[in-house]
Amino acid sequence: MHLSAQTHYQAELDAGRFCLQQCLQCARHVFTPRELCPHCGASTLRWVRASGAGTVYSVSTIARQRDEGGNYNVALIDLDEGVRMMGRVEGIAPEDVRIGQRVQGRVAQQQGHGLVLFRPVPARSGPAGAGPAPGTQPGDAQ
Ligand SMILES: [Zn+2]
Repeated sequence: MHLSAQTHYQAELDAGRFCLQQCLQCARHVFTPRELCPHCGASTLRWVRASGAGTVYSVSTIARQRDEGGNYNVALIDLDEGVRMMGRVEGIAPEDVRIGQRVQGRVAQQQGHGLVLFRPVPARSGPAGAGPAPGTQPGDAQ
């Protein structure tokens, strides 16, 4: 059975995998999902796992009533693979998302469907390596 590229993309997300297409002809990554490479026109697109790492390109705060969940943000994220996607940055106040901020995407499940949500990544070049080691949780929060 042949799935359309968009359907395949969503099916991977529903299974917990964040995938992009990569062109075998020119080696560039492709997003949004499509049947032909937008860079060189080749139809030799294969699916690869996305790193999920990216940088905020732009962000908008959407005002929403508090009883409907409060404000949220819609960001454009430049993934390290060189493609730009729309997403939401969580784990931070919507107003505090900054352009240029490093983020890490992961697949979340909402109402039976997978979607990519981003979280801020602490700046690597912070003061004197004071940050916690990767994978550890800050112990003294709250
Ligand atoms: Zn190509």
